[in-house]
Amino acid sequence: MKRKGDIAMQLLKERILKDGVVKPGNILKVDSFLNHQMDIELINEIGKEFKARFSDCPITKILTIEASGIGIACIAAQYFHVPVVFAKKSQSVNLDGEMYCTKIESFTHKKVYDVIISKKFLSPEDHVLLIDDFLANGCALLGLIDIVKKSGATLEGAGIVIEKGFQHGGQQIRDMGVRLESLAIIDSMTDDSLTFRVLIFRRQNTSNHQTITGIFILLTYFHFTYVFSFYFRFMLFHCSAACYCSPGFLRPLQPEFLLCSLQAHPLELPGSFS
Ligand code: 5GP
Repeated sequence: MKRKGDIAMQLLKERILKDGVVKPGNILKVDSFLNHQMDIELINEIGKEFKARFSDCPITKILTIEASGIGIACIAAQYFHVPVVFAKKSQSVNLDGEMYCTKIESFTHKKVYDVIISKKFLSPEDHVLLIDDFLANGCALLGLIDIVKKSGATLEGAGIVIEKGFQHGGQQIRDMGVRLESLAIIDSMTDDSLTFRVLIFRRQNTSNHQTITGIFILLTYFHFTYVFSFYFRFMLFHCSAACYCSPGFLRPLQPEFLLCSLQAHPLELPGSFS
């Protein structure tokens, strides 16, 4: 049976196919529903899906970069119940020691920006989830990862709405050991065709639950088998001990007594002859 989240992500892919426009320079325009006009119902499902995929992480902050990551991060944050911090782009920064700063090359504008975050909003106690709309060559995510490292916070992973799998960012970030969850991965795109990667082995919460349930059932089974076999042996031992030790009414159960009485009164079975 399909998960609710899988159905929602299918809707995302159908929406990309229906409304996405491929522009020169490997740019996919999805401004009618994701990063200019925003389809809040769809983005709400995207937020829920990020929560489902990172539900095992103790996220304390969602970190994104202005501008198009902010809306998506805010909707997702409602499911994590944590604040959103967004990195600000600026072309020249007066570093006053109160900011974490890194450089990011914008994929769409081909400019290098200084990107800043106030030190007040990111500390070593934080567990950070990065969220962005697109992943192409990975500059934006690498910049955010750099800031997380500088702050001493723990990076739990990154959630991306659309990864362009034919550009190298995704591979590079996975190779760094970062847990990267992209909701739709495009493997190729031209003016009139677009192909999505089909993920067969994807980490899912439901399968985690199934695994835990399976392990629990197995442990229960082994536990009861052990307890019952122990109990059975215990009873057998005590019964035989009782038979041997008791002088009275259990005497007929003693093996010697049974043997003697068999010798005294041989069994007369139907059809037996002596
Ligand atoms: P990267 O830094 O991974 O090369 O590019 C990611 C950033 O560039 C994202 O924050 C996103 O805003 C922008 N971007 C990259 N590729 C596209 C694209 O095809 N379409 C749109 N609309 N934005 C993109």
